[in-house]
Amino acid sequence: MSILDGWLKSAQIALFGPRCLLCSAPAPLHRELCAACLHDLPWLTTACRHCALPLATKRAGDTCPACRSRTAFDRGVAAFHYAPPIDWLVTRLKFQGRLNHARLLGDLLAAHIVDPSKEQTIDPPEALVPIPLHAAGYRRRGFNQAERIATRLGPALGAPIRAGVLQRVRDTQRQSQLPASQRAANVRDAFEAASRLDDAHIAIVDDVVTTGHTATAVARTLRAAGAARVDLYCVARA
Ligand SMILES: [Zn+2]
Ligand SMILES: [Zn+2]
Repeated sequence: MSILDGWLKSAQIALFGPRCLLCSAPAPLHRELCAACLHDLPWLTTACRHCALPLATKRAGDTCPACRSRTAFDRGVAAFHYAPPIDWLVTRLKFQGRLNHARLLGDLLAAHIVDPSKEQTIDPPEALVPIPLHAAGYRRRGFNQAERIATRLGPALGAPIRAGVLQRVRDTQRQSQLPASQRAANVRDAFEAASRLDDAHIAIVDDVVTTGHTATAVARTLRAAGAARVDLYCVARA
């Protein structure tokens, strides 16, 4: 958001009260969404307990076929299906720098993770590790959306953010631009741990997980550095 956009938004809130980011209806104070839009979001209710893949089953705590034989994550949580309007919010965040979308998505993910009404509670991790961009990618974008989302999760979960423990050492091609068959190879050896993580319980944070190859490569790197438990938290899962 530019300075002018920020100023216009503040002026608009001062004059007319907060407006829903999606439908422009009046929104409750300190909320980005009106109650109707919040309710209509594509919440992910049944997913694989390890990789957060959406499942057709109604039973909580199920495992997808792939994770039955081998899984990269001890626990995986996604708040949403990667569907409208979440895809729009994520795309605007990444490619138009709408950082208020990161605040909203991070808060919604935090609420989903700590939801006390859910059957399964989550053990809070000792640290959150956002999936890093390569230095060149960071320069292009100017921020890391996963880090921005983690910034909202950390206080809600009482977990520090340890962005520095993981580096992206190869400037990989965007996964979405590659056929599925090439995505695993594209991110292999892309990450390096900067320090030992002996016996740590880490949660990886990302915006969207599709094939899961990137998050899997990160999980392998963290385990190789000594992490005892690696969870995955993402805003949306395709
Ligand atoms: Zn609305
Ligand atoms: Zn799974």
